[in-house]
Amino acid sequence: MSVPSFSNIITSDMKKLFGNAIRSLLEDSALTVACTLYFGITRYEVCNNCIYDPIGRKSSNRYITGGPIPFRNGGICPNCSGNGRKPVISTENINLAVIYDYKDFLGIKTPVNAPNGVIQVIARKEITPKLLRAKELQPSTEISNYADARFERISEPQPAGFGDDEFVFCNWKRIK
Ligand SMILES: [Zn+2]
Repeated sequence: MSVPSFSNIITSDMKKLFGNAIRSLLEDSALTVACTLYFGITRYEVCNNCIYDPIGRKSSNRYITGGPIPFRNGGICPNCSGNGRKPVISTENINLAVIYDYKDFLGIKTPVNAPNGVIQVIARKEITPKLLRAKELQPSTEISNYADARFERISEPQPAGFGDDEFVFCNWKRIK
């Protein structure tokens, strides 16, 4: 591990200082960036462009007047491809500390080759369940370079912090 051992030299005051430092980093106005967590398809909603057929459990192939994409009755609804329902991918916007340079990563041995497209996220411990549930992460929503980038978690959230384990970090790999 590249994390140095501070045993016996860290006082409880220093631990508190470290905790306060990271906590203040993670406050929304500090060094965190707006990220979006994607939890995948969590529900389906009925198409707003065609009349749903509850018996056939699909589109009745009839247009709802006022729907966004008119089509002729009997045709395939272009909005839902005739399924009658559309998957809803649930997301949550959240501020996280994102480390882009692997040399600054916590808890990782410096690899021989820089891992391409790997980032590290540091979060308050309470965020852990959301990190575990998220299928994808879009970091730095406001930074155009990463505006469309999606990452997939490649390591378990690991506790960080001296003794109190108040924070977690985990690594994510770019998938698109
Ligand atoms: Zn439809």
